[in-house]
Amino acid sequence: MNERNDYHMDPETFRRRGREVVDWIADYMERIETFPVRSNVAPGEIRARLPAEPPETGEPFEAVLRDLDEIILPGITHWQSPNFFAYWPANSSGPAVLGELLSAGLAVQGMSWETSPACTELEIHVLDWMLDMLGLPERFHSSSAGGGVIQDTASSATLCALLAARERATDFVTDRKGCDRSLVAYGSTQAHSSVEKAVRIAGLGSEQLRLIDVDDQYAMDASALERGIETDLDAGLTPCFVTATVGTTSSGAIDPVRAIGEIAKRHRVWLHVDAAMSGTAAICPEFRSVHDGVELADSYCVNPHKWMFTNFDCDLFYVADRATLVRTLSVLPEYLRNRATESGVVIDYRDWHIPLGRRFRALKLWLVIRHYGIEGLRHHVRRHVELARMFTGWVEADRDFELAAPVPLNLVCFRHRGGDTINQAIIDRVNDSGKLFLTHTRLGDWFVLRLAIGQTHTEQRHVQAAWDAIRAAAAEVASE
Ligand SMILES: *Cc1c(COP(=O)(O)O)cnc(C)c1O
Repeated sequence: MNERNDYHMDPETFRRRGREVVDWIADYMERIETFPVRSNVAPGEIRARLPAEPPETGEPFEAVLRDLDEIILPGITHWQSPNFFAYWPANSSGPAVLGELLSAGLAVQGMSWETSPACTELEIHVLDWMLDMLGLPERFHSSSAGGGVIQDTASSATLCALLAARERATDFVTDRKGCDRSLVAYGSTQAHSSVEKAVRIAGLGSEQLRLIDVDDQYAMDASALERGIETDLDAGLTPCFVTATVGTTSSGAIDPVRAIGEIAKRHRVWLHVDAAMSGTAAICPEFRSVHDGVELADSYCVNPHKWMFTNFDCDLFYVADRATLVRTLSVLPEYLRNRATESGVVIDYRDWHIPLGRRFRALKLWLVIRHYGIEGLRHHVRRHVELARMFTGWVEADRDFELAAPVPLNLVCFRHRGGDTINQAIIDRVNDSGKLFLTHTRLGDWFVLRLAIGQTHTEQRHVQAAWDAIRAAAAEVASE
């Protein structure tokens, strides 16, 4: 038996170490531009530097911070770098990080209203605020038949939407007896991969997902959707779910939500609007048209963890009819029964998503909204779109490059006119340089470069430097 009776970190030590950690993070923010944006380590390199065995006895805190610098940082791809233009952003901010810390400090588990009333009520409240901020319909408001909830990711939100759609279409028989082969779901060929994942998990099977053609702007062809639904109906199948995407991951295309919604309504198909990335734009009145037709949706999701300065994870999921969602997901064992739940006047968020337990995520969103105000959020979103338009102008004016898709908001898809091999060489060269990080997609037959502008601290000088580096890489590639 050891002699100590307490191995914990006492509050005084926590206070001291906590300050060091906050200092470490602030230093990281200050020096972030000095790191190569994309980590260049080889597979296994980080693990090789970690001890094979966990420590038998506790180690000093300094040792952990030292390893953070020496072992972990080289294996970090710096998502918060202003020179990060890859994928979609997963941006963050000071208030978000502090909100996350407070959430960890309170460490409540908000599965039911009773398990921390403030965790549930702040979430309801902030989600109602966000409806107004994004110009979303009243039917998603907590005072209506609908409501909103924070999910970890858009993938989970889409899965929950599909599960509710499946139950609505089968009168809740599938929840009891499992899925038959008749249910069909729809999305465009550009819909996010999470739609296919959801279709598999929900038991429909990926063969039951119809990928609908897009138009020359990469937006869903609504008439092709209607033909698809009619063909399936004629075959005796049951269309139950369609996803419309506001800001496709590949090119930022915006599906015609209103037209899709009208078709969905006619055929009693659940419409889910996946606005994971681009929904945030609606905070600016001039971009609110991205939400045209959303009042026809049965559900909707947007990720503040992409473009609203709220660190991962934070997805907002809204439904027009919460009773269907809750009935789909609710299982109430004896050990979770309590008076508040029985009274029916509270929301128990455990019935609104897949896991039972849940973190206090509303806190970080609340801090972000209160720090920036609507005005501050608008300012930065607007600025990102302006920078994307500026970059678009440079591409259009350069005779070696061309745009590969329209630029509705903050993603520029472009390519060198010299063909796929050159574009691949350009991207490898700029990413290897560490100066910036870009990713690619395929549009039609072409390998296309994607430049997404949404990092919290990205300014014109970063976008200008990115363009200079891309052109320099193109010149080098051409001269080889
Ligand atoms: C990023 C993205 C997703 C997936 O987001 P997660 O929150 O990581 O699951 C889904 N749909 C679209 C349109 C996206 O851009």
